[in-house]
Amino acid sequence: MDSLYQMISEHFAGVFTFGLGRYLIAAGLLSLILWLAKNWSDNRRIQNRRAGVRDYRREISSSLRTVFIFGLTSLTTVVMIKFGWVSKLDGPINGWLFGVQLVAIIVAHDAYFYWMHRGLHLKKMFKFSHLHHHQSRTPTPWAAYSFSPFEAVTEAAFVPIYLLFLSVIGAPIYGLVIALFLVHMIVRNVMGHAGVELFPAGWTRGPFRWMTTTTHHDLHHSHGNSNFGLYFTWWDRWMGTEHPEYLAKFDLAVGNRDAKILGGEKAAVLSADRAG
Ligand SMILES: [Zn+2]
Ligand SMILES: [Zn+2]
Repeated sequence: MDSLYQMISEHFAGVFTFGLGRYLIAAGLLSLILWLAKNWSDNRRIQNRRAGVRDYRREISSSLRTVFIFGLTSLTTVVMIKFGWVSKLDGPINGWLFGVQLVAIIVAHDAYFYWMHRGLHLKKMFKFSHLHHHQSRTPTPWAAYSFSPFEAVTEAAFVPIYLLFLSVIGAPIYGLVIALFLVHMIVRNVMGHAGVELFPAGWTRGPFRWMTTTTHHDLHHSHGNSNFGLYFTWWDRWMGTEHPEYLAKFDLAVGNRDAKILGGEKAAVLSADRAG
């Protein structure tokens, strides 16, 4: 088993640096942007409540634990690749195939996430698996990886499961696709927890309305039993789990501060105005 030890020590630093770096850069950069553009971001806050120091502390410390668990899962994936249990595509990159693989893994992960997430919300599962993430009622970008150890494992399991599936159907994937997928995941993840609507006004009625906004996931944190999707809105629409006030709340977030103070009625007016 000498080679296994060598393999792990060879990849250990790289895997953990990539995981930790992804989290710190994405959450840190977004926090910095929101702070620099304070006027803009204050005006687009989704909730009136603010996260406290205890929230930040909990979100960061449990996210660091998740980085460690993700690192162990990545090492498992590296070992699986090295032993040939799953295969990776080497050689020159075919742009078309690369694009298809990237879209496929994102769409597959969105489906995995939706159903895993619904599972974690089952009465028997919730307390020990997902309550920790929902302690962030007003999430911040640092909540992106704020998971219980159980949830961290179920979140991380997607990549090895997907790679095993690809090897069963004989469709190996480029290593760079996996890396880009992981970068995309953390970027969308911190955006979903920003607490500030980052998408432009009109987004939920535009051609890309099937992409989730910050309000979409923020409503999941403040209400809990709707908006289970990650990147796309379609699973929530198909399954009837989209928050009934999603569009109005989005309009409220991208509207002005007066509208927020006035509350729901104004949001409805804003929605109607913009729809018309
Ligand atoms: Zn949840
Ligand atoms: Zn969340």
